[in-house]
Amino acid sequence: MRPHIIVNVAMSADGKLSTRERRQVKISGVQDFNRVDRLKSDSDAVMVGIGTVLADDPSLTVKADECRDIRRRRGLDEHPVRIVVDSTARIPPAASVLHKGEGKRIVAVSKAADEQKVAEIRKYATVIITGEDTVDLTALMDELGTLGIRRIMVEGGGALIGGLVTAGLVDEIYTFIGNIIIGGRDAPTLADGEGFLRESEFCRLRLLEERRIGNGILLHWAVYKSGK
Ligand code: NAP
Repeated sequence: MRPHIIVNVAMSADGKLSTRERRQVKISGVQDFNRVDRLKSDSDAVMVGIGTVLADDPSLTVKADECRDIRRRRGLDEHPVRIVVDSTARIPPAASVLHKGEGKRIVAVSKAADEQKVAEIRKYATVIITGEDTVDLTALMDELGTLGIRRIMVEGGGALIGGLVTAGLVDEIYTFIGNIIIGGRDAPTLADGEGFLRESEFCRLRLLEERRIGNGILLHWAVYKSGK
């Protein structure tokens, strides 16, 4: 069974995830940070694109002690499985996501990835190979499903989310919209990549919840899917 995919991002009032230099910026506050930590803790896996690893070097660990305690009591690792989508195996061997905190790691690469780099990654993570030049996201999700991963939180960035949306793989989206404008046509947005051309192709959403958090707003969307 394919996993349920929940995207979570913080964006500026003008829809940017970071600056045009891909520099991480503080968009939300402590309250939203805690919500995201719980969402992560309630997931089997947390996924990012290699762009986010190279820009931010995140560990993707669960930060709150009580969330980690709950996971331990449920017989789980303290942190969800951490998954990086990285077609050409560019992930630095010293990346925080490969080392910080207990738990499994998966790096998804394509057949174009250099064998030596893949061998290096295998020291720290399970490697899944799909797609010719780029990771085949649908095949990846199928494989993650066979590994028992039922619920994945996707933290970004824009290119990976764009790929997942285009492939029709996203089920829910949380967007926290903060009270800043970052600007810049080259700054990442929620769904980068090629985008859709025709209205009939657009990804349609249903608003499940809107909630004011501090000086921003949290929107929770469900993605309409044909046949669901
Ligand atoms: P990204 O989405 O993290 O990673 C994109 C990369 O994933 C692609 O360049 C591609 O590189 C790889 N990839 C492999 N297969 C893919 C596929 N099928 N579809 C799409 N991508 C695929 O990178 P990004 O768009 O540059 O975003 C990074 C920025 O987002 C950073 O500035 C970070 O700070 C920001 N960010 C913000 C938030 C937030 O909530 N505000 C959250 C996360 C990240 P290869 O082909 O080389 O594999």
